[in-house]
Amino acid sequence: MSQNFETKAIRTQTERSQFFEHSTPMYVTSSFVFEDAEDMRASFAEEKERNLYSRFSNPNTSEFVDKMVALEGAESGYAFATGMAAIYSTFAALLRSGDHIVSCRSVFGSTHSLFTKYFPKWNIETSYFKANETDTIESLIQENTKILYVETPTNPGVDILDLEYLGQLAKKHGLIFIVDNCFATPYLQTPIQYGADVVVHSATKLIDGQGRVLGGVAVGKEELIREIYLFSRNTGPALSPFNAWVLSKSLETLPVRVERHCENALKVAEFLEAHPQVNLVRYPFLASHPQHEIAKQQMRLGGNIVTFEVKGGIAAGRQFLNNIQMCSLSANLGDTRTIVTHPASTTHSKLSEEDRLEVGITDGLVRCSVGLENVNDIINDINQALQI
Ligand SMILES: *Cc1c(COP(=O)(O)O)cnc(C)c1O
Repeated sequence: MSQNFETKAIRTQTERSQFFEHSTPMYVTSSFVFEDAEDMRASFAEEKERNLYSRFSNPNTSEFVDKMVALEGAESGYAFATGMAAIYSTFAALLRSGDHIVSCRSVFGSTHSLFTKYFPKWNIETSYFKANETDTIESLIQENTKILYVETPTNPGVDILDLEYLGQLAKKHGLIFIVDNCFATPYLQTPIQYGADVVVHSATKLIDGQGRVLGGVAVGKEELIREIYLFSRNTGPALSPFNAWVLSKSLETLPVRVERHCENALKVAEFLEAHPQVNLVRYPFLASHPQHEIAKQQMRLGGNIVTFEVKGGIAAGRQFLNNIQMCSLSANLGDTRTIVTHPASTTHSKLSEEDRLEVGITDGLVRCSVGLENVNDIINDINQALQI
């Protein structure tokens, strides 16, 4: 019987043990035992699908992966200790020395560091396109280009990239199309439907959703995930069973949480758009968003990130943060607690002003990860902080 999203998020479950538990228990064990020599031989030869060692698989990590596979519409997956472990391992497993990546310039900071600081050590180069200039992608593709990589919505500019267009482009040029779906979650958007070959996530964000554990996952085509799995079972970035247990429980409430996150975020965005101290608001489900039509086509709702520009540049951005009373000043996002950050003076302060503007970070830009507090309390806090 086919199941809907919410049902899969709850009813995809590890087989019940002899104790008939209702909710999956924690399998905090590093290894598993064998019946006899033949069982052990067949297990190591992968003639049997079973748990051997928790670096390879564990009932809790498998439950989390099975859910993510079901929710993203993928064939297979593997879970990682962090989002960065998922992203690094995916590239490291699929690339060889001499390969080339084409990536959107607006990607998560550590992903950008992989491209600029580490992959060149192995003779892997990356070419970038701007989020709003996807028509330049074809001119960047070379003979040795292997991967097309994007995030959408982007961070912190909240640009939307057209997944259908990118999927077709990747197919036309025989590229592996990889999407970091962290900001949308599979509840809002399923890139595989548009031709993504692998979808990666930082589960630390909306998937946990409560600011507790780190985690990551890669799901996608069977043969690609097999490569990622083999690389990972040897190199050891596995997710811990405890964190997998937490994340699998979190997925049970993903649809209701994300629904409310988006409802609150839209109200915050509408409030900001009408505020005289604010220059510009970026939220995919505001009609003023430059890629609003694409957002509506590929996303169920607009997500929980709202960015806006406070009038008065860097000083005003810093003052806004200092005025905030309830919302948190934190580097995380996708938490129950609303979080505000000022990229120009923090996460992106090492970039030149030109490089910052390239990824849409103006001096007064504030990123708000809208949480699940009562939306009136969130708006009241932002409103009083805007009295600059
Ligand atoms: C946070 C984040 C990551 C990295 O995830 P970690 O779990 O912190 O390693 C990757 N991509 C995006 C879009 C993120 O927001």
